[in-house]
Amino acid sequence: MTTKEKLKLMDEIKAANEQHVQDFINANKGELIKTDRNGTKYWKRAIPCDRCGGHGYYAIGVHNGQPVLSPHDGGMCWKCMGHGKVIGTVKEYTPEYAAKLEAKRAAKQAKFEEERKQREAEMELERQRRKAEEEAERIRRAGHFVGEVGQKIKIDVTFVYQTHFESQFGITTVYVMKDDEGNTFIWKTGSGSLMTKDGETMQEGDKFTLQGTIKEHKTFRDVNQTILQRVKVIEKK
Ligand SMILES: [Zn+2]
Repeated sequence: MTTKEKLKLMDEIKAANEQHVQDFINANKGELIKTDRNGTKYWKRAIPCDRCGGHGYYAIGVHNGQPVLSPHDGGMCWKCMGHGKVIGTVKEYTPEYAAKLEAKRAAKQAKFEEERKQREAEMELERQRRKAEEEAERIRRAGHFVGEVGQKIKIDVTFVYQTHFESQFGITTVYVMKDDEGNTFIWKTGSGSLMTKDGETMQEGDKFTLQGTIKEHKTFRDVNQTILQRVKVIEKK
């Protein structure tokens, strides 16, 4: 007998068994084991076999797209002996208790939903807080333009760093300074230096009072720069 024929035969046996089990259930609700304080009835009755899924047989593998049955027992399920059904316990709730269980389940679901919404709201709040922080940090880093173009100003600054670049006009030194509020000042010069009247040259990190004229306001790499010209060191702090 080929596997296909075996399976066909088993299907026939199963159909017959199913009818047999259905007749059994129809004729008899099964054996009432107990009724608990909620009115739930526990019936001992035929239920689909959990080993073979109610088929009565099972395959141990697949070969060329065909199920392979066990060579020892022809694939018959030993748990239900090919019936596809086993005797198990079935709970039968009273409509009142079933409604109570459903209400409990719904309440649990609602609570879960409520908690999920709460978590989402908290995450959204955290996301907004972080965004506001980033924005504040961006604004803080950017600083502000100081004064008006053409205005002569006297300010206290810290010398942050200097850099040089070469062009067709020669070497230009770029001095970068910041005031106490973090605003950035730039002075580009070909020949000037940050030097007091007494000839003391400012070093990076030094604080001093500067006088200069605002040449322009420019945003470079998200930083608002107040560009100066005609810069003089008035006094070292
Ligand atoms: Zn079975």
